[in-house]
Amino acid sequence: MFVSARAVLRAVPPTASQHGEAWDEVLEQIDEACVQRPVATDLGAFVRARVILEVELENDQRRRLALPDDLAKRVRRTLLAVDEEVGELRMIAAPGTLRPSPRLTSVPLVLRQPLASMMVSSPFGVRTDPINGFKRFHAGVDLGASEGVMVYASAPGTVVYAGWQGGYGRHIVVDHGDGIRTHYSHLQDLFVRVGQLVDEREPMGAVGNTGRSTGPHLHFAVTNAAGSFLDPLILLGVPLPPGAVEPDPQGTPLAMSR
Ligand SMILES: [Zn+2]
Repeated sequence: MFVSARAVLRAVPPTASQHGEAWDEVLEQIDEACVQRPVATDLGAFVRARVILEVELENDQRRRLALPDDLAKRVRRTLLAVDEEVGELRMIAAPGTLRPSPRLTSVPLVLRQPLASMMVSSPFGVRTDPINGFKRFHAGVDLGASEGVMVYASAPGTVVYAGWQGGYGRHIVVDHGDGIRTHYSHLQDLFVRVGQLVDEREPMGAVGNTGRSTGPHLHFAVTNAAGSFLDPLILLGVPLPPGAVEPDPQGTPLAMSR
């Protein structure tokens, strides 16, 4: 990913008029990648994309090439989007959160809503970022609620992360076994710690506005063993079979890997 466009950028002599076009090509490739559903295995590619953007910006500076204002703005916006993507993918790949854990019960896993009342303010899927206007895949759902509203565990599990996590602010990750994890972001308070067992509907924190957030809400996300984000609204209330589950992009409820 991104390498061919970079080669074009490199090959263009400093004063060539095609320089802007070469930048366009790099940015378009990255923009295209940012609207795909995030998968943990793409982390390396996004880290490389960040390096490419920084190195090429430096090359331009060294050659005293000033980018036109609108292009410079696009480059900055793409850098921020790549940062978001890297942060999101690091979260699912982080040590301690990707360790596979078998389910210790034969009772089917069912995810329940994390708030007593659900008001979806931003669904799962491609959207225009409310902060920087960049088109990106929103890898969870935003549930509108006032600050302090109780956030519950979606299903029984083990807390594998509870603390500050960059743009996610105060953040909790619960492992439910078989690689299924739920993620709760922008919390005001945390009532659980790493290693703690939680039951379905157990209070874990309070809705807040921490991290990269434009108002009090809960960002709720679900990931599977393959490191892919799943649409939480499709999964709620549905018994999940053992093994990785992946909602079909066409919209049929669930496709089982085994
Ligand atoms: Zn969100």
